[in-house]
Amino acid sequence: MTGQERSEEKSECVSLSPMMEAVPAPPQSERVCVFGTGDLGRSLGLRLLQAGYGVVFGSRRPHSSSSLLPHGAQVLGHAAASQSAHLIFIAVQREHYDFLVPLANQLKGKVLVDLSNNLKKNQYPEANAEYLQSLVPGAEVVKGFNTLSAWSLQNGPSDANRQVYICGESVEAKQAVIAVATKLGFSALDQGFLSVARELEDFPLQLFPQWRLPLRISIGLSAAFFFYLLIRYVIYAYVTQGEDISFRIMVSLANQVCPIVSLIMLSLCYLPGVLASFLQLYRGTKYRRFPNWLDRWMLCRKQLGLLSLGFAFLHVLYTLIIPIRYSVMFWVTEHTVSLIRENRTTMFDTTTAWHDDSYLSLGILGFGLYVLLGITSLPSVINALSWREFSFVQSKLGHLTLLLCTAHTYLYGWNRFLSSSTYKWYTPPGYMLCLVLPSVVLLLKLLLITPCVDRTITRIRQGWERGADQRNPKDSQPLIP
Ligand code: NAP
Repeated sequence: MTGQERSEEKSECVSLSPMMEAVPAPPQSERVCVFGTGDLGRSLGLRLLQAGYGVVFGSRRPHSSSSLLPHGAQVLGHAAASQSAHLIFIAVQREHYDFLVPLANQLKGKVLVDLSNNLKKNQYPEANAEYLQSLVPGAEVVKGFNTLSAWSLQNGPSDANRQVYICGESVEAKQAVIAVATKLGFSALDQGFLSVARELEDFPLQLFPQWRLPLRISIGLSAAFFFYLLIRYVIYAYVTQGEDISFRIMVSLANQVCPIVSLIMLSLCYLPGVLASFLQLYRGTKYRRFPNWLDRWMLCRKQLGLLSLGFAFLHVLYTLIIPIRYSVMFWVTEHTVSLIRENRTTMFDTTTAWHDDSYLSLGILGFGLYVLLGITSLPSVINALSWREFSFVQSKLGHLTLLLCTAHTYLYGWNRFLSSSTYKWYTPPGYMLCLVLPSVVLLLKLLLITPCVDRTITRIRQGWERGADQRNPKDSQPLIP
């Protein structure tokens, strides 16, 4: 450090603790520098101080910004601050990075951690970290910590997301950053070279990426079935009988749409697995990639399942309120009064009682298993299960849930499948349409678990390849002639 810089440091240095003079400064390796005294800079500085690091802030206005900074930190001008530590966090917006150009010499050999994010994807031609590297070619730039927020940093390690992603060209520089991250209570994941920086910068801009497709499917199905049922029930009754039953939209129609969408989405959860098995059987190997659409579909099975559980839950709630609905209470009273008035009695029908109880019981059992599937998809529960336990619940119990819910729907249809009055305007009711997909999935699954197919698929999953022996004759030669 030149004499001029030393005197500059003295004049610019603002000690934030009255004890600062008495407390010896930590060695340079234990000191880190933070450029920028904004929201993220301050939160990060506080966290670094709590972890035992000496923190030196680099600011444009060290005197005016000092009052906001955490106690124990120092604040200097950028040039002086950069001399006090090997590792410098750049907590400044990318738009202002040109202030670093005149400091290029002082920053030579230093590790610069780029924390910046953008407002939207592809805002700039290159990643912020690559831009920073081009401005300060002599420094080692590491992208990292940008997925944390100032708020989560302030709340301590127990509250915030514990993972930070980093990338950069220099292994030593990354190791230095990983060491700091670990001391702060984070687990750092090295994502590779600086070319990955754009991906890391896009992380915080993601909006439920894995939920997008399942949400679109559920909204599309709900809208399609709602209008289909509206035409079949409400509009049909109005056109053919002049009857206004529009009040049924709120509960009756909703209580038909929810189970229909739930069952279709549960089938969509298990269909890709079945398709993947048939594809492996057809190809005779597991060493070929699935088509992209199937890969994407398989990756969002958990979200499909959770949404279908949500719809099943709504169906349960709508069903529970049926007895307290005005229209239901009215018709029950009306029916009872008319029986008394006409001095009529009705006979107890054991078949109907059996049918009703079986239909309700299958629904309850199906819903119980549904909830179990939902619980076992929680990360904390997954961590407590072995792979075998997890696959037993998600695959075996999952297919059983689909079977119970499908049987529940078949029993709901019962003897109406063959009655012509069911097909209003020659259209089948919603519950019939929704039975197509689960029936296909269950049929295909049944084929897969037949012993001969199951044996082949198990061999393929253990690495066997059909035709491998012909392709590589050496493999089939006996070892002992
Ligand atoms: P901020 O509150 O606006 O603070 C930015 C700081 O940059 C200012 O306090 C200022 O510090 C300095 N600065 C402003 N103009 C400058 C210029 N022309 N030249 C040099 N320095 C200048 O921003 P922030 O929220 O802390 O965010 C800082 C960076 O971290 C951004 O790139 C952001 O994308 C990223 N980030 C923020 C969060 C968050 O939760 N806030 C989370 C992840 C990533 P001085 O006045 O002391 O010079």
